[in-house]
Amino acid sequence: MINPVKSKYTMGLKVNRRVSLYTVLSTPSFAGHHEEKLIKLFQVNSGIIEMDKGYLTAMRDVGTIIKVPVAMYIIDHPRGLVLYDTGTNVAIADGNCASYWGEGLCAAFHGRQTRDEVIDRWLEKFGYSVSDVKYVVTSHMHLDHGGNTEMFPDAVHVVQKAEMQAAWWPEKFQRAAFVLADYDDARDFDYLQLEGDFDLFGDGTMVVLDTKGHTQGHQSLMVKLKNTGTLLLAGDAVYTPENENGVTPGITWSTNESMKSIDRLKMIRDREQGEIWYSHGRAQFDSHKHDSAYD
Ligand SMILES: [Zn+2]
Repeated sequence: MINPVKSKYTMGLKVNRRVSLYTVLSTPSFAGHHEEKLIKLFQVNSGIIEMDKGYLTAMRDVGTIIKVPVAMYIIDHPRGLVLYDTGTNVAIADGNCASYWGEGLCAAFHGRQTRDEVIDRWLEKFGYSVSDVKYVVTSHMHLDHGGNTEMFPDAVHVVQKAEMQAAWWPEKFQRAAFVLADYDDARDFDYLQLEGDFDLFGDGTMVVLDTKGHTQGHQSLMVKLKNTGTLLLAGDAVYTPENENGVTPGITWSTNESMKSIDRLKMIRDREQGEIWYSHGRAQFDSHKHDSAYD
């Protein structure tokens, strides 16, 4: 038998608890503790490369030598610091290209960066350290994108499984752009080996996108920023606006897959009302800010 008096009392207590919890949650001071922390994104560059424009745009302006930035990104998400690409190896900094890449590769790409343009210095500049980095998302393992993988032994490395296999044993015609010394001491690192897309934090704000074509396991990164909107960090899936507008990329593992990936990024761009940010687009890079964050 339920004691009606006790039951009434218990019910009253429950109601009171509910009211008091609601009251607490509604007070401005409590709400203040749960203020949304914005994602911050810094676009920086690992110096420049200087090369034949035909490497970027097939059958267009072949023979024209251009200098382009090597874009990379530091992204501060409330649940962890993320890099998208680590740039060109620190060993080529301050005029030491040939001693690390060798004469042939330097003649083709002329990699140039100051020591201050290496990813660890960019991190320091914005108040972070190498050990703060939780995830390194690498677009692909070419020499200007995965060059400093070994600088981050404590991070989780997010790569496509196909890319790591290709990096270790590239197709013969692709071999030149992979520098084994960039990652041969990183075999025992912690890899999140993907086979397709992946929502990094499960909140839709940072989604790795399979954009194979440039290489076997190329991946781009979609980042949703509150004020800036949706950015599609293309990596080398889209080198320049010309590729976005239909010009076939020069260096590709598979032209057909490359073109499908460009179309995929353009469809997402339109769906999200976002922007594609290129890896090697001089004009776009120069129009962006690099000394503070997009949020
Ligand atoms: Zn590149």
